[in-house]
Amino acid sequence: EARDQKSSCMIYHPSMDEKAYRRLVLTNDLYRAIENKEFHVLYQPQIDTRTGKIIALEALLRWDHPKKGRISPAEFIPIAEETGLIISIGEWVIRKVCQQLRKWQDDGFAPMGVAVNLSTLQFYQENLAERVEGILKEAGISPFCLELEITESMTINIEQSREALLKLKKLGVSISIDDFGTGYSSLQYLKQLAIDRIKIDQSFIRGLVHDQQDDVIVTTFISITQKMNIDVIAEGVETIDQLSILQQKQCHQVQGYLFSPPLTPETLTQQYYEIQNK
Ligand code: C2E
Ligand code: CA
Ligand code: CA
Ligand code: CA
Repeated sequence: EARDQKSSCMIYHPSMDEKAYRRLVLTNDLYRAIENKEFHVLYQPQIDTRTGKIIALEALLRWDHPKKGRISPAEFIPIAEETGLIISIGEWVIRKVCQQLRKWQDDGFAPMGVAVNLSTLQFYQENLAERVEGILKEAGISPFCLELEITESMTINIEQSREALLKLKKLGVSISIDDFGTGYSSLQYLKQLAIDRIKIDQSFIRGLVHDQQDDVIVTTFISITQKMNIDVIAEGVETIDQLSILQQKQCHQVQGYLFSPPLTPETLTQQYYEIQNK
């Protein structure tokens, strides 16, 4: 089976330190995490501050390891990328999200948009658009409900990226740039790749109140997107002060602990979705 073939080179040595050993264990266990049903998806609301309503959700993956408890995606996503498992895990996330959307719609809620994080490896899959289309069809979900978040590093090779992106866009899927401002900030691709939305990285939002430079950077991002007719959302909004500065700057889409942490679909249904959309 896959695990034996792919990780046979990783053998425990007594000299290994604890960190390396943990990584080895996690790597081995990651191969079975899907079939063992150890993953689940949380949903963090994105709010329009003008209406106070949820405009969309971001899907965030969680791994509950049977022995080690909850593992942060910051720890297991890199392992998933190294092993190539991110292809099947990433596809599982998109399918899970579409099934959840189906469930909400069957329960009578208005269609909601969900943003899913895409890893570079998935992006370079040749048939990504076809696979996404298949998953949407299978669940009976409109492509307009799906947004894919990519990072700036994925746009380095604009020629190669463009083809994949245009196929997805033709389907009706939206594309946003995650962690905007932390990568290769060539503004070329915003136009060339017909990007729908940028997400201002939380590192800039954190400094907003105290750091003049962050203030200038955020102002610039917002004004560029306004001129290019691209949506902009601020990530990691934690305080009222950050919120009011963003509002002054005409950035109305926000996501962060100030409004809500990532929630299970059940909690989300109870706390928000029911009130706002039914
Ligand atoms: P990201 O895409 O930048 O997601 C935002 C992260 O910030 C999430 O961490 C979220 O829980 C956290 N966050 C939300 N609001 C706040 C806030 O107000 N303050 C602070 N300090 N943090 C906030 P999380 O869920 O631990 O995910 C970490 C990263 O793992 C994500 O960063 C993303 O790069 C990756 N990731 C998560 N799910 C997936 C997935 O399904 N596929 C892929 N490829 N990557 C994923
Ligand atoms: Ca993201
Ligand atoms: Ca982000
Ligand atoms: Ca990030």
